[in-house]
Amino acid sequence: MSEKSTLKVDRTDAEWREQLTPDQYRITRQHGTERAFSSPDFELGKTGVYYCVCCNRPLYRSQAKFDSGTGWPSFFEPISMDAVTEHHDVSYGLSRTEIRCADCDAHLGHVFPDGPPPTGLRYCMNGVALTFEPE
Ligand SMILES: [Zn+2]
Repeated sequence: MSEKSTLKVDRTDAEWREQLTPDQYRITRQHGTERAFSSPDFELGKTGVYYCVCCNRPLYRSQAKFDSGTGWPSFFEPISMDAVTEHHDVSYGLSRTEIRCADCDAHLGHVFPDGPPPTGLRYCMNGVALTFEPE
């Protein structure tokens, strides 16, 4: 059956379509991008954890969130190095590093090398792909 998938959460396209809202489905399963400044601001300043909207895996801590001014939720590091996976993305004629959820392969956004200390990285995420739980 499952030839190569090592994902912890592996659902069919139809199952994802049923579970997610149309926006969530388009972005996480079809590699969409939400419009800048369209995502909820996730109660900026509150302490908590950001989860994958598809499988609920913890992905980022609010302590790693910063205001990038881009209109997308931005973090300088994931909650752990194995929470997300990196994929080379050459769509739109750009060479970028795509970030996906390690457990369910949801497209989350991209990572760029222009973030703040301590990592110098900017994980530019689609807010639609995340849920926030205050601590
Ligand atoms: Zn996930």
